[in-house]
Amino acid sequence: MPVAVDSLPLSALNHFLYCSRRAYLIHAERVFVDNEHTLLGNLAHEAVDTPGYEHRAGWELLRALPLFSDKLGLSGKADLVEIRRADFPASKILNFKSQIHDLPPVVEARPVEYKKGPARRWFNDHAQLCAQALCLEEMFGLQIPSGLIFHVASALRTEVVFDDALRALTLTALSNLRSQISNPKAPPAQLKPQCDGCSLRGVCLPEASALRRARLFEPRDYT
Ligand code: SF4
Repeated sequence: MPVAVDSLPLSALNHFLYCSRRAYLIHAERVFVDNEHTLLGNLAHEAVDTPGYEHRAGWELLRALPLFSDKLGLSGKADLVEIRRADFPASKILNFKSQIHDLPPVVEARPVEYKKGPARRWFNDHAQLCAQALCLEEMFGLQIPSGLIFHVASALRTEVVFDDALRALTLTALSNLRSQISNPKAPPAQLKPQCDGCSLRGVCLPEASALRRARLFEPRDYT
């Protein structure tokens, strides 16, 4: 079943770069199954899923910040966005609630995405972070050169630079995702390394399509 593509969720881009069939099953057919990876991922996000605000080392930390881009037709939520304002005197920090309509403009911002494990090989996390940056650039009217992936298991942060190559990859993936998700037919299952960690393996059955391609069900004793 195709879906309206006016506004795509940011997570769909991550799913698409991991596996286009996975993106289709989740976002067009609304199929979702948890496995150990998705459940651990949920745990990793618990700390940042509640909207919040604090100051640390000169940065304002905005947790669970809603994101959108009218230009790209994207929406979602950032785990954490770190921002700096043009000028932010300590008196305003102490009195944040009363000053909320009187804040100086944001001059620097960087998205931070929480991930449960080490960096993955499919560029999906990098592209998702880049798409968050594209939303923030539109929202704040800023250029955002880089963001961070926080690996919960090691408590280390990896910097991701939003260079031309990553921006181009992200925009191309978005365009391909949009056309694929409005397609009435799901992409075929294909057994590949990503299937090992995929929570949809039990419903997708990539082994079955591999068998079909191998034509194992055809008689071989014609004379
Ligand atoms: S099991 Fe493999 S082919 Fe199927 S959705 Fe997951 S990654 Fe894609």
